[in-house]
Amino acid sequence: MKVNRIYVNNWRNYDMGTAEFAPGINVICGKNAQGKTNLLEAVYMLTGGKSFRTRFDKELIRFDATGGEILADVEAHGRVQTVRILLQRGQRKTITQNGVKKTAMELADSLKAVLFCPDDLSIIKSGAAERRKLLDLAISQLRPGYAALLSDYNRLYENKMHILKGWREKPSLLDTLDDFSQSLCRISAQIIRYRASFSQRLAQDAEHIHREFSGGLEKLETAYKTVSTVTDPLASVQQITQEIYAHQAAHRQAEIESQSCLTGAHKDDLIFTVNGMSAREYASQGQARTAALSLKLAEREIFLEETGEYPVLLLDDVLSELDEKRRDFVLNRIGGGQTLITCCEEEEIARKTGGRVLNIVNGVIH
Ligand code: ATP
Ligand code: MG
Repeated sequence: MKVNRIYVNNWRNYDMGTAEFAPGINVICGKNAQGKTNLLEAVYMLTGGKSFRTRFDKELIRFDATGGEILADVEAHGRVQTVRILLQRGQRKTITQNGVKKTAMELADSLKAVLFCPDDLSIIKSGAAERRKLLDLAISQLRPGYAALLSDYNRLYENKMHILKGWREKPSLLDTLDDFSQSLCRISAQIIRYRASFSQRLAQDAEHIHREFSGGLEKLETAYKTVSTVTDPLASVQQITQEIYAHQAAHRQAEIESQSCLTGAHKDDLIFTVNGMSAREYASQGQARTAALSLKLAEREIFLEETGEYPVLLLDDVLSELDEKRRDFVLNRIGGGQTLITCCEEEEIARKTGGRVLNIVNGVIH
């Protein structure tokens, strides 16, 4: 999959500009605050109509403009499609593909991307929510039903929390508690199965990549952690449902007393260790970056196996904090599909990768 060209108008700090990308490696160079990440963000928008930096579309429109636009030719399985995203202040954005209106979710079918940005260090260092997000974003791109499952789950979870928070004032709310709990267990089981199967593949590929990345010195291990009563997260949905339900039944009273939801997929986590030590607690900056990047590169391999094509790889500011050996590993490893990589030092990187160089100066693409 690739983006052949992208035109942006009143996008972030861009007035108007076009970038033509090579099918392989593209090095996006420029000093700080020139618009490198903004350009990657525009490309990322093509994969699902959302930014990776903000939930608010109005922030994407150039400060003094009333609307912005992205127009791009994207290619998947040899077929080129034109995607257009129109942003208007105070209105919902509109997305079209070859002139036909699409939802953001439909857009995700035509282009997939794996993104690494500096915030992704939080996969290793922050709370479990970041790690669930890694799983959920990746699985949603691969399995069309998964995003719907998550949104059902979130709706049920909100309903259950409403009951648990409100029952002291309105005891009759408890009448429907068990129904919601049962539904949550059932959907949890489906989510857990997807997550466990994806985690298993991720663990294998990431360990391999991380080992190579660290010159054979480090072993990255990934373990998927879910509700404690689940004996095998890859078992049948029926079995997992029953096992979660056992946990649910044992914690029913505690949930009511603590007014919190103690059972379900919303507490899942991935546990990473580097050479046997918890990465969250002990990994250095460089190790955390190596691990996070290994996970992203592993995700890219899984996408390739699943779809038959590499997704577009978007690497924002990936090389800082890495020593020369690890930098070289990254630069050698990103071939195969299309890659867009931002950096401040153009010459060295461009020479090493043989990629196309795009220079960005104050919102202008050279
Ligand atoms: P760095 O090397 O520091 O990461 P960068 O080239 O990636 O820099 P960007 O994040 O792309 O920089 O941002 C470039 C500039 O765009 C910033 O100075 C930012 O203030 C500006 N900017 C962001 N949003 C808007 C907007 N909606 N309108 C105008 N300018 C914006
Ligand atoms: Mg940047």
